[in-house]
Parts: sequence; C-alpha cells; structure tokens
Amino acid sequence: MSTARAPKYPLQPLQATSHQEPAKASVVKLSKNLDSPGEFMVKADLLEILRCPVCVHDKGGKLALVKETWLVCQDCGRKYPIVEDIPVMLIDEGDKWHAMAEIDLPVPPPRPEG
Ligand SMILES: [Zn+2]
Repeated sequence: MSTARAPKYPLQPLQATSHQEPAKASVVKLSKNLDSPGEFMVKADLLEILRCPVCVHDKGGKLALVKETWLVCQDCGRKYPIVEDIPVMLIDEGDKWHAMAEIDLPVPPPRPEG
C-alpha cells in the first residue's frame, strides 16, 4: 500500500523528441497570410517603387493609394488598379479610369481582360 509519489527518474527533457521537429518543419509550406499587417506594408513599398508610366520620365508620376486597391497618379490623374495584389501599370488601364472620380472606382477593381 505504498503510494510512490517520487519518480524514480527525473522527468525526461523534451529535447529527446524535439530534435526531430526541424525535419517536419521543412515540409510545412509557407502560406500567404492575407490577414497579416504585412500586406499593408507591401503596398506602402509599392508606392515607393511604382510610378505612372506616362509621367515617370517627365514629372515623376508619383502614385497615391486610393481605396487600398487603386494607384492614382498625382501628376496626370490616371488610375491603375491593383488586381489580386498585382498593380496593373498599363497606360491603357490608366486611361480607362482616368475620367472616373476616385469615389466611383470599383472595389475590388475588375480584372483587365481581352
Ligand atoms: Zn501620370
């Protein structure tokens, strides 16, 4: 009737099993995290990199992000859609939305096709 409370051996350190973890981790795919705050940072970077193709050589063609999904040229007012996180920097696209007011721009932008 002895209740042996004290273990005979000290608890095994977790290292015994955890050393196998890296092998498993290498299989895990890096999934795109759409909810991460990093998404917005990416777009902020885009604004630094991208320029309106019409104005880039002349005035600079700096772009402003509108509605999270549109890049509006600060020089000529052309509007370039960001479709599925990919900015469509085509002059034809910029022309297409040029006359439309920023508040009327569709969200999300339609995919340019044809
Ligand atoms: Zn422009």
